[in-house]
Amino acid sequence: MKKDIMTKHTKIVATIGPASESVEVLEEMMRAGLNMARFNFSHGEYEWDERVIKNVRTAAKNVGVPMAILADLQGPRVRTHMEKELEIEHGEIVRIFDISTNEKEIKKMAEDSKVIVLDCPEIIAQLVVGNDILIEDGLMKIKVVDTAKNYVIGDVVDGGTIKNHKGVNIPDARIPLPTVTKKDYDDLAFALSQSVDFIAMSFVRNGQDIVDLRKHIRKIIGEDETMPRIISKIECKEALNNLERILGATDAVMIARGDLGIEADPARITILEKDILKKSIRHLRPVIVATQMLASMEHNARPTRAEVADVTNAVADHTDAVMLSGESSMGKYPVEAVRTMAQIATETEISPYDDVYEAMPLNFSSEEVKIAHATHDFSRELSAEAIVIFSESGYTARLLSHFRPDQVILVATNNQKTYNQLALAWGVYSFLFAGEKSRQECVQQAIDNARDKGLLHAQDLVITVLGSTKAGKKLELTGTRVV
Ligand code: PEP
Repeated sequence: MKKDIMTKHTKIVATIGPASESVEVLEEMMRAGLNMARFNFSHGEYEWDERVIKNVRTAAKNVGVPMAILADLQGPRVRTHMEKELEIEHGEIVRIFDISTNEKEIKKMAEDSKVIVLDCPEIIAQLVVGNDILIEDGLMKIKVVDTAKNYVIGDVVDGGTIKNHKGVNIPDARIPLPTVTKKDYDDLAFALSQSVDFIAMSFVRNGQDIVDLRKHIRKIIGEDETMPRIISKIECKEALNNLERILGATDAVMIARGDLGIEADPARITILEKDILKKSIRHLRPVIVATQMLASMEHNARPTRAEVADVTNAVADHTDAVMLSGESSMGKYPVEAVRTMAQIATETEISPYDDVYEAMPLNFSSEEVKIAHATHDFSRELSAEAIVIFSESGYTARLLSHFRPDQVILVATNNQKTYNQLALAWGVYSFLFAGEKSRQECVQQAIDNARDKGLLHAQDLVITVLGSTKAGKKLELTGTRVV
């Protein structure tokens, strides 16, 4: 099958913001290769989110593509709480409080020393001498050199201007906030009312965080609804230490390189990315590589060579998806950024450096896994153009996607959420069928639709997979020629 933007294997996630909120721009982004729209709940208002989520759905319908919607919850993020901006310089001594201290006391201290306030109650009690406090993406750094009853004394290592509500990372301290905060619970209730397809959880610390979140979602939406899939954002040391357990519990993973590059040694960020990617794939967890992939495109129409190399490497490492943040939410070139990513992905996929000829191992086996693996080998042996399946929950599709076949995986489904959620799965392109059609009829219809869209041609060989991966049922493989 000819590779183009719609049938590229690697998927594209874009953060939506003022630069990309209109139906027109969203349609252009979808035509350029967008597969998932991310709503960042660290910013924004529900009224805006609701309106723009509607815009995404309208645009996807107009363009005729599957589109996933992701609600990204802020998590236990510490921020500055400043009445006015404060300049700090290398070598200066500052006092740092949190909002559990009485305002009058803080103001009194500010009369004869520079004072920084953090918005997380009780965090000061967690700090010890030697901790680094990093502010605004690590631009400013303060080292704790002494502790007092309700504040710590810090030595400014890297200075700058401290503004209100800027993100703070303290890599070696325990943040005294639950992984899902009160704000996250409110945002989650809103996101579920919008029927989003994915929920991302920031600063996940261990597998239990995911188990608890899943239970909470189930309580809200009820047993019958298809669950939104949960994406664990890997961005702190604790998550790296508990990665295997998180991978056991989560549905998908985001390598959140912004915070990860602050919390862990920045020189190791690419090594960590490769390591998390490999482990996620072995656990059958779709994985997104995020942050600063085409950062210069926030202001420029063309990426830097280093950015092209970054996207190329993630694609060659078989990531399911690559993500845009500020480039698509606030930048001058949201459509060009998606198009550039799609072009880099396509060029990498057709190059000899995307070595998907070896089926990738899984860390578990079952009859379904063996059949999916055999489908991969069978399709390659026969030089088939596509693999076509029916998938209700999306599991069979994800299983096939895991083996990274050369062929596009065309999926017929009768479930709207599965249709949307598979937009994230590597190499999968889905069709939604409503009504009382049999699996066989849906698969045939998917082949016909793909032919009508020019994705398949008469006499192309397709491998169909029918049956179910549910216990007690078998999958059947058949080779069919397109008529
Ligand atoms: C990141 O830190 O890379 C990230 C994606 O998280 P957020 O943008 O929500 O801070």
